[in-house]
Amino acid sequence: MTDSELWYTEYYTEHVRFSYRVSKLLLRKQTKFQLLEILETPEFGRLMLLDGKVMLTQRDEHVYHEMLIHPAMLAHPLPKRILVVGGGDGGSIREIVKYPFVECALLVDIDGEVIEASKEFFPELTSGFADPRVELKVGDAAEFVKDTDERFDICFIDCTDPVGPGPVGPAQALITDEFLDNVKAILADDGIMVVQSESPVYEIDYLKTYTSRLKERYPHVATYVIMVPSYAGLWSLTWASKTIDPSIEITRKPPKGLKYFTPELFGAALQMGKLDLWGARPHQL
Ligand code: SAM
Repeated sequence: MTDSELWYTEYYTEHVRFSYRVSKLLLRKQTKFQLLEILETPEFGRLMLLDGKVMLTQRDEHVYHEMLIHPAMLAHPLPKRILVVGGGDGGSIREIVKYPFVECALLVDIDGEVIEASKEFFPELTSGFADPRVELKVGDAAEFVKDTDERFDICFIDCTDPVGPGPVGPAQALITDEFLDNVKAILADDGIMVVQSESPVYEIDYLKTYTSRLKERYPHVATYVIMVPSYAGLWSLTWASKTIDPSIEITRKPPKGLKYFTPELFGAALQMGKLDLWGARPHQL
């Protein structure tokens, strides 16, 4: 292979960028909702972008998916009915179906083309789609949570970025007051919601406002911070529940073969979520 001079640059802010050398452009397609691109890179393997933002890379997707899914799956008394909002790449469902007690895992993604491209280019993420307990719906999750009569034990919000530089796309509908109220309404009394809540460094103002809006709705809200090189290094996930505190001792055993998650690491991630080091920009110091 000849040395490629093709580079992809993601903007974290207008002042900070991160670049990847690209060995091959595998797919570039404007769907009805967003620009979908899949790149082959020497350092991170295959990488999926939506509207120019990294959704996942083969090298580190396990960190995000394990840490999004397993803490709530292990802490809830018996999660049988699970909703994934977004998540069309399949990584979240792959982790959820590792639990034999799950009866139904419903994924609602607005963009069927993300699901199809993931099946083709990331088969290691979409293996869970074949599980008979899994149902895939293509549609706006904001509409789904408004209209459904179903109730869920856990709702994972695995969506594109609703804020940040560049186009924000359909995830904007997933941060309205109406959406947050509707998610609360479809959660069982001991339900848990876990949401990807953006960079704790570059979107700290968003994160603070978002968590305070969750605190208006739930007594137990906590942010935890994970290490994902392709998400600007650190990323935040936020837990909200009517009854379950994330710092309870986890006694259920995690599935075998996880590469990042351990209960101890989750405890540390919660501690990192309490730090307020990332907030101050130079002009505020
Ligand atoms: N792990 C990723 C991240 O944090 O960058 C998210 C990956 S997943 C591919 C994000 C999915 O959210 C996309 O497939 C997108 O189509 C979906 N999405 C965005 N807005 C949505 C909406 N309103 N309803 C349902 N799905 C939505």
